[in-house]
Amino acid sequence: MTLTPIKTPLVAKKMFPNFIWDISTNEKFIYLTFDDGPTPEITNWVLDTLNTYQAKATFFCIGKNIENHPDIFQNIIRYGHAIGNHTHNHVKGWKTKAEAYLQNVDLAASAINKHSNNTPLQQKAKLFRPPYGQITPKLGKLLLAKDYKIIMWDVLSFDWDYKTTQQDCLENVISKTTNGSIVVFHDSIKASKNMQYALPKTLEYFSKNGYSFKSLDFKHTAEQYQ
Ligand SMILES: [Zn+2]
Repeated sequence: MTLTPIKTPLVAKKMFPNFIWDISTNEKFIYLTFDDGPTPEITNWVLDTLNTYQAKATFFCIGKNIENHPDIFQNIIRYGHAIGNHTHNHVKGWKTKAEAYLQNVDLAASAINKHSNNTPLQQKAKLFRPPYGQITPKLGKLLLAKDYKIIMWDVLSFDWDYKTTQQDCLENVISKTTNGSIVVFHDSIKASKNMQYALPKTLEYFSKNGYSFKSLDFKHTAEQYQ
């Protein structure tokens, strides 16, 4: 049994007010996010699927996967989605010393910068999502000091969880997502069975109900990349 809720409770959001849990908007905007890619077969499928619905999203990439699959990483950018940092080796924030953790974030940032020449800045704003959602107040402070926006979530699809059925995964997203929700999917092998079922149906359902899908395109200045 897991204690992680599908929908992040308000009390948790208030406990960490410097992290971004959702986007405050009255408009019918949804912010889909995809963690752990780029992954061969999976990420390009996600890009095509999003494109069918003119949907934009944000991809929290693992630096090592960018190094291994720079062509797929560049496809993400070419389709106009936003890129975020998800560490270089999918590091656990509760079990890693702060210095080593930040070095791993820097490694991923180097991979992102190396393979995203000429990318509009708003697509590669300094966004960070901690693997497993594990982050300490100390790490949070250090990352914020480095100008990262720390992106958590409002809704977890549980696509990675083998105990979650395809139908449950879809239901998790449809029942909990609302205006400004940040929703977590994974473009990974592990999550693909559920994700590839739930994503097209999520796009279909919310599009029919007048929603559109946006990337997290916070504005950053060139100086912030130094
Ligand atoms: Zn992850």
